[in-house]
Amino acid sequence: MIERLKSISLGNWMLIGMILGFIVGLILNFFVKNPFIKNTLLIDNIFYLGGTGFIRLMKMLVVPLVFFSIVVGVASISDIKKIGAIGGRTILIYLITTAVAVTVALLIASIIKPGAGLNMVGLAQANVTTNTTITDTVLNFIPENPFSSLANGDMLPVIIFGLLVGIILAKLREETKVVNDFFNQGNSIMMEMTRIVMKFAPIGIFCLMAKTFASLGFSGLLPLAKYIGCVLLGLAIQAFVVYPSLLVIFTRLNPIKFFRKFISVMFFAFSSSTSNATIPLNLEKLSELGVSREVSSFTIPLGATINMDGTAIMQGCAVMFAAQAYGMDLGLSALLTVIFTAVMASIGTAGVPSVGIITLNMVFNSVGLPADAIGILLGIDHILDMFRTAVNVTGDAICTIIVSFKNKSIDLDVFNGLKTPEESWDDTYPDKKF
Ligand code: ASP
Repeated sequence: MIERLKSISLGNWMLIGMILGFIVGLILNFFVKNPFIKNTLLIDNIFYLGGTGFIRLMKMLVVPLVFFSIVVGVASISDIKKIGAIGGRTILIYLITTAVAVTVALLIASIIKPGAGLNMVGLAQANVTTNTTITDTVLNFIPENPFSSLANGDMLPVIIFGLLVGIILAKLREETKVVNDFFNQGNSIMMEMTRIVMKFAPIGIFCLMAKTFASLGFSGLLPLAKYIGCVLLGLAIQAFVVYPSLLVIFTRLNPIKFFRKFISVMFFAFSSSTSNATIPLNLEKLSELGVSREVSSFTIPLGATINMDGTAIMQGCAVMFAAQAYGMDLGLSALLTVIFTAVMASIGTAGVPSVGIITLNMVFNSVGLPADAIGILLGIDHILDMFRTAVNVTGDAICTIIVSFKNKSIDLDVFNGLKTPEESWDDTYPDKKF
């Protein structure tokens, strides 16, 4: 029996936590409403402790995780010079596709309104900064004192400071090797800490779901279903409309041919929920599509670290969901802040399971939304993580194909199935990289 319980994966435990929490919450909702047995001891103490405790653990990770990840991610782009224009072009396309992804998500969620009807105003105090001007928003990017920004968890200045440190580390290289190692090791520590914290996720999710549904009852179900619908629709649009359009516009290649080969990579990313672990398969399939390893061996690991379009879609929908649930209208400058922060969060999100929901804290923080709403979304996040990771890796591959097309590092005959990868490169590209 114990052996069998041990063999259940963490993702499935989260699912079990969610379902049990949901059921217990609904039962408690009945009792809470009943004036004769009104007793909220369990909800207000035990579930509150388990749920809020877990959210605090997640918040604990945010600042160091994002800071180390950004510094390490940017510092590792030292190879940009080596591969010249590819580096700059790749990063630019990665940033633009992510910005498009968040914008699509914000649009969808403002039409479907997943959070409407979910009255969370009483559950936590929101402090949305909707009335700051665009000038203020831009000024807020600049850290006055990076250490106080780190201490206060002001993510935008932290990100800017991290980017600068990363760029300088990449430039000074050997001279700053010790500091570079420090950041790399710090990054490993934070990744390991994330893994440990996530082990408590099933308990945290159970408590959060039970507490939330004890107060919301069945009325919480529809908004949640709508939120899932928004994220899935956003992901589908990004994967099957935005990416194919980009492929056709920039390369005139046939997206169906791409998806026919690439679908197995999407399935693998879906089932593993990690872009990092998908890197080898992604590289292999891109080779089968005629892309030179010279390009993909740089762009794919980079993409798995900094390009998370699927994650950005989830974060855009989550922000709208929470803002609607708290009855807040996000103004233009708040929306721009969300787009900017989600693009930065995408850089700061490591390509491993569940990190997107942790960095969601920083997007919420940037517009003053309380993290409590994340508690409800956490319950269903494992399933969405699977879908969004599939989109994350697709974005990396599409950008890679566009970059290699522009760089003449893709054998179009291989892409079109007229040649095998083995037959490729010899004539056109002497330094065959397969
Ligand atoms: N699991 C995602 C990935 O590896 C990251 C996330 O959104 O949690 O791409």
